[in-house]
Amino acid sequence: MANGLYQSLEFGRQWIWKLQTLQKIQFFLWKCAHNSIGVNGCLSARGMEVDSRCPRCLKETETIIHALRNCNLVKPVWNELGAVGFDRDFFDSDLENWMATNGNSGLAGGGGVIRDWTGRWIVGFPRKIGIATSLMAEVWAIWDGLMLCVDQNLVMVEIELDMRNYLARKGTDQDQSFIVLDNPPEDMTAIVESDLTGVGVARRCAELGLVP
Ligand SMILES: [Zn+2]
Repeated sequence: MANGLYQSLEFGRQWIWKLQTLQKIQFFLWKCAHNSIGVNGCLSARGMEVDSRCPRCLKETETIIHALRNCNLVKPVWNELGAVGFDRDFFDSDLENWMATNGNSGLAGGGGVIRDWTGRWIVGFPRKIGIATSLMAEVWAIWDGLMLCVDQNLVMVEIELDMRNYLARKGTDQDQSFIVLDNPPEDMTAIVESDLTGVGVARRCAELGLVP
């Protein structure tokens, strides 16, 4: 079962003030977005006589993204939380995109495909979710997928998560809240067939949200 979501993020940084969280967390995120946290890299760049290195690993400059995510002593914590399962670019995005992707609420859709062990399509589903964070939308998609597995009497399933999911994007745009697809949509047929034969196709996620 492959699940995922599509989310159209709000423009700018105003999403920070709409988060349902403590005001001090909102201020912290706002300061991060404006590069105003007193990490050693920032202080050194502004002329203060401090060691710019990270005080934990002592290897790299302590930028905000290093302190929060990239430090080798911090990464295991995120891995333990399963962060990459919700955002495949979790460790690659820049600070602003990273915060927006993982904290922002936006118009979201979920979706997924259940296939047999050979890759053959069993059933697919796009779901319109509405305003949600990426985590909420991903959990919706997992729930939908598992309920369909129960309907199909599938008791041994393997779940893959992929944030850039084509059906999830369809879900965002559709009028109905939930659609069950017994066959792949016409515009997905080529991807499904290529996958069956083990042939890769060019990745087009930038325009369509497609990931073969
Ligand atoms: Zn470090």
